[in-house]
Amino acid sequence: MNTKVLVLNRSYLPVHVTSVRRALSLLYQDVARAVDAHYRTFDFASWADLAAHEDAIGLVGRAIRVPRVILLVAYDRVPRRHVRFSRYNIYARDQNRCQYCGRQFPRSELNLDHVIPRSRGGTSVWENVVCSCHRCNRIKGGRLPAEAGMRLIRQPFRPQWTPFMLETFSMRRYQEWMPFLSGIDAAYWNTELVER
Ligand SMILES: [Zn+2]
Repeated sequence: MNTKVLVLNRSYLPVHVTSVRRALSLLYQDVARAVDAHYRTFDFASWADLAAHEDAIGLVGRAIRVPRVILLVAYDRVPRRHVRFSRYNIYARDQNRCQYCGRQFPRSELNLDHVIPRSRGGTSVWENVVCSCHRCNRIKGGRLPAEAGMRLIRQPFRPQWTPFMLETFSMRRYQEWMPFLSGIDAAYWNTELVER
């Protein structure tokens, strides 16, 4: 009963993870459909008619198969929420690529660099912090990129990810979720950087 159910919007985009109880309730209220491994959708009655396998829940006197994925029939938005400003999210945004020399590195070989140094009034915000390799970091020192003869390969920006991506990575994921999670890196878990 501790298992979680992946919630998709009407366009099959993952938006949320919920409890089995809540998923079945949404199914029962007819605002959601269960989705099986073949992308077929079921309303409550047709889902309840499926033979319950080992992963079933007792409900109103019968065994009902636990859905792994449900689809919200009337919901087509992807909820947007604050994206945590964290080391890992900055690495993820920059894809572990030094934003000065453009090379990819293991995370252990990357620093965060303030494009406008803090000593010059630069702040710790998405638009002023980038990944930098140790070498580029050393070369740049406390200078502006132009002063160090360096250029950013891309202007830093605030990413627009869905909360779903940020919340589920520390969670156990099911095989049935995977077709809907492709393209999402598993490493966005993070802690917020406190300094601003
Ligand atoms: Zn570099």
